[in-house]
Amino acid sequence: MRRGFKSVNVMMVALLVLMTAACGDGASKDSRVKNVIVMVPDGFSAAYATNYRNYIGGQASTLDEILVGMAKTRSLDHFITDSAAAASAMATGNKVQNGAISMTADGKALKTVLEGAIEANKATGMVVTSTLSHATPGAFSSHANSRVQELEIAAQLIGKVDVLLGGGKNLYSPEDKKRAEELGYLYLENRDQLLEANHDKLFGLFAGESMTPEIDRDAMTEPSLEEMTNKALEVLAPNKNGFFLLVEGSQIDYAGHVNDAAWAMREIEAFERAVKSALEFAKENGDTLLIIAGDHDTGGMTVGNVDSSYSIDLLHHVKASGAAMIDYWKRQGQDLKEVVHEYAQVELNDDEIRAIEESHYYEATLNQIISDRAGIIWITLYHTGVDVPVYAYGPGSSKLFGVIDNTDIAKVIAQSIGFDLESAEGVE
Ligand SMILES: [Zn+2]
Repeated sequence: MRRGFKSVNVMMVALLVLMTAACGDGASKDSRVKNVIVMVPDGFSAAYATNYRNYIGGQASTLDEILVGMAKTRSLDHFITDSAAAASAMATGNKVQNGAISMTADGKALKTVLEGAIEANKATGMVVTSTLSHATPGAFSSHANSRVQELEIAAQLIGKVDVLLGGGKNLYSPEDKKRAEELGYLYLENRDQLLEANHDKLFGLFAGESMTPEIDRDAMTEPSLEEMTNKALEVLAPNKNGFFLLVEGSQIDYAGHVNDAAWAMREIEAFERAVKSALEFAKENGDTLLIIAGDHDTGGMTVGNVDSSYSIDLLHHVKASGAAMIDYWKRQGQDLKEVVHEYAQVELNDDEIRAIEESHYYEATLNQIISDRAGIIWITLYHTGVDVPVYAYGPGSSKLFGVIDNTDIAKVIAQSIGFDLESAEGVE
C-alpha cells in the first residue's frame, strides 16, 4: 500500500516537472495561476484576529482557516510603516520610504503587480471602502511621490483599471466622469445601480470621500464590501486571460486610529464576508491564487486587560461609531450620557463623562472607555511595527510560508503570473 502511494507520488512529481518544463514563457511562471486576488485588511494584526475570533463566539474565522504565516512590515526609512510604503512593498516587491506611492525617493516609478497583470492581458479591478486614490489602492495602481497627491493618483486610474469600486466622488470632476464613460466605463453611484450593473468596465463612486463606516452604513443605499467584491468577480471572471483584483477593508485602520473597538470588529466582519466570497470563488476555480495580508497594525489593541474582565460580547451592543455618538452630542445637542446609553448600551459614570468633556479628542476618549468595558486597551492612535498575519489559498500559496517580508507578496504574484518586477537602485 505504502509503496503504491510512493510510486504515485514519484509519477506526479515527474508529471509536474514535465508540465513546468513545457510552460515556455517565463521559466518561473506557474501555469496553474490564471487569476490573482489580493485582499488587504488595512491596519489588521494578530490582536485584531484574536479579538475578532472571540467576538464571533470563539470558533475559527474564515481567515483562521487559511493562515500561512506572518509578514514583516517595516518600510525603507521607518520601522513603523505607513500604508503607502506598505502597499508599495506588497505591490512592487520593493521597500520605499513612508508616504511614497510605488515610487523611489529619486522619482523612479516601480512596476506594480497590477501593471504586470495588465501586461499579461488580464482584466484588473480594485474594490475599497476608502477613496479609490487612497494609499493602498493608489500604490497598487499608480505612482506618486506622496500619498497626499490624491488628485494625481485618481487621474491615473481611469482607463487603466477595468473595475473601480469605492469612495472618492469629490476627487473626480464631471469631465473625468465623461472621460470615463467615453472610455467605456459604466458610471455608478449607489447600491441599486451596482447590483443591476451588467457591463465589463465599472466606475463606481459611492461616497464623496471615504464610504460610510460599516457600523453606521445605510445598507440600502451604499453597497457593502462583499457586494462590491461579488460584482467585481462577476465582471472580471469572464476574461479569458484571467484577472487581478485588489480588495481592501480600508476602514479597519480608521477604527484603529480612533481606538474604536466596536467599529473595528464590524469592519472585520464586513471584510470577512468579502473574504468568504473570494475564497468560495477560489475554491470553485482552481486557477485562482488568493493572498490576504494586513499592511501594518494600527492602534496596538490588546486582547484583555488585567484591570477589567474581557467581555468582548459587549461590542455587539454598540450600534454607532464613536464619531457618530460625538456628533449626536456635540453637533445635535443631545445628552452625552443618554446618547452613549442608547447607542452603546454603556452607562457612563461621572468621572467618565468628565474625562470625555475635558478631552481634546472626544471621540478617542469615548472609544477608549467603551473598549475598556469590553476588556480591550489601546497603546497608540498610530501604527505599530508588529508583524501581521498572512493568509493564502490556491496554486502557489505554499510559497508564502512562515515569516515572510511584505515584499515577498509581490514577488510570488509576479512569479506566478510570469513577469519581472523592477528593483529600485540601492533598494533591497
Ligand atoms: Zn494601512
